[in-house]
Amino acid sequence: MRLRPHHALCIQKFTGHGYDDRFTEHMTEICETLRKFPETQINIISGCDELCAACPHAHTGKCAALEKVETMDAQVVKALGVRPGGALPWAELAARARKNVFETDAFKEICGSCEWFDLCRDTKI
Ligand code: SF4
Ligand code: SF4
Repeated sequence: MRLRPHHALCIQKFTGHGYDDRFTEHMTEICETLRKFPETQINIISGCDELCAACPHAHTGKCAALEKVETMDAQVVKALGVRPGGALPWAELAARARKNVFETDAFKEICGSCEWFDLCRDTKI
């Protein structure tokens, strides 16, 4: 599965809230797949990924909030020790996100300006 880096965070904090019904349904399926099959190989990419595919903010293959999400992606790449073009199992990626982001000050630094931050901060995983 192709994922942009910061979606390693969003998938773990997802509680059924999304931009619209299509996006939410699609994201629910992805989250369930990864929960069932944690060994799924994740290809880290730059640009639009599996989640963006159903997003109302993806226009002609680019995120409408490109600058903001690219900044988050760069911070997550650094925090998780991954690189675009690399691959690792979902379980490993998710564990790194918990240890290096959610359990540290990096969570607020990376996600603090996101509209979903309050919800994600209060969501236990
Ligand atoms: S705060 Fe935003 S970027 Fe961070 S995990 Fe939640 S939805 Fe994703
Ligand atoms: S298009 Fe942008 S807002 Fe939509 S899922 Fe992708 S990164 Fe997030």
